[in-house]
Amino acid sequence: MEYYLHDDPRMHAAWGPWFSHEYITYFAVQAFDRIMGLPPVPVKPNPFIDDTQWPVGPGHIDLYKEDYREARKIDPLLAFDYGHRNGDFSPDPPLDRTADPWKVLVVYTTEPDLNLDCDLSLHKRQKIMGGSHGWRHMRFRILGYRIGMAPESFRHHRQMAVKAFQEGNDYWGWRMLSRCTHYLADLGSPFHVKAAPDGYVIRKILSSHELFRTASAIHTGYELYVERRFREECRPFKDSLMDGARQGRTIGGDLDAELDGYVREAERLVKPVFSFMLDRFGTGLVEAYGDVHKDHEEDVAAQTKKCAANAARVIFEDSHRPHLKALDDLTADILKRVGRMLGMLLAGFADR
Ligand SMILES: [Zn+2]
Repeated sequence: MEYYLHDDPRMHAAWGPWFSHEYITYFAVQAFDRIMGLPPVPVKPNPFIDDTQWPVGPGHIDLYKEDYREARKIDPLLAFDYGHRNGDFSPDPPLDRTADPWKVLVVYTTEPDLNLDCDLSLHKRQKIMGGSHGWRHMRFRILGYRIGMAPESFRHHRQMAVKAFQEGNDYWGWRMLSRCTHYLADLGSPFHVKAAPDGYVIRKILSSHELFRTASAIHTGYELYVERRFREECRPFKDSLMDGARQGRTIGGDLDAELDGYVREAERLVKPVFSFMLDRFGTGLVEAYGDVHKDHEEDVAAQTKKCAANAARVIFEDSHRPHLKALDDLTADILKRVGRMLGMLLAGFADR
């Protein structure tokens, strides 16, 4: 497979620029000839629109990327907002259109990072994770407590995918599965399962503001780094995801039984990634995110987007370039495990 997503002629320019979750699912699905070869399915309305069990954020609308109008050309190196694309998309299902299942899997992976999970009241402690969005996308263990519900988000969307397929709505089956790949990938991402290494937390326990500021700068800075490296066609990222997905596809096995071990592996990588980021980018990175406050009205996710351009300048400064290989290697290791889990997940749906 010679493409890197942004150069794949089968993808409309209107859908770009592309973000990490889209690259991750794109490389994973390439390992499945069966899914790649499935015939297009008719676009249908969302059967779960009034789901009271799993409310969606008040600002969320289902946009249909099958109906697009090219409107602009965004520089990928300056693209930090998943909602801002080259095209504008329809809020109404284009019922006369069809969609290739593998493309549905790829283009809706960032949907959970838009308004889907924002501005909800899910738990009294959700502020620790910056709001309801963080609560649905993370899972921490703190002093014996488990906070955040990313595993439930993963399971819920897998269940919705199964249900949609059973009801004959294949379009929403693939689209729910696409959202599901997002939460599963999040659970393999170090800072979604642990904020900072224990030693660091203990050292900063009395300065919680500094701890929060540093941990969130490193979390978002790291994700910014991964995104940019995907866009720069970092070969080890692509290879690891595809190898991992092939492995997951062949071994099959019980995904739920592996979930805990998968999360623990991601926790283990917090220390090396955190230390690298702190030693290499240090205060410059933390200052780039200087304006983020957890007590602010606005969701932390929205605030951090605004600081992204500054953070990218710090991380990709010329003097840092020669040292990034170590971080690429750690990330390839992470992505291999993510690919493997996505491979196991997709294997369960590949025989449709
Ligand atoms: Zn997420």
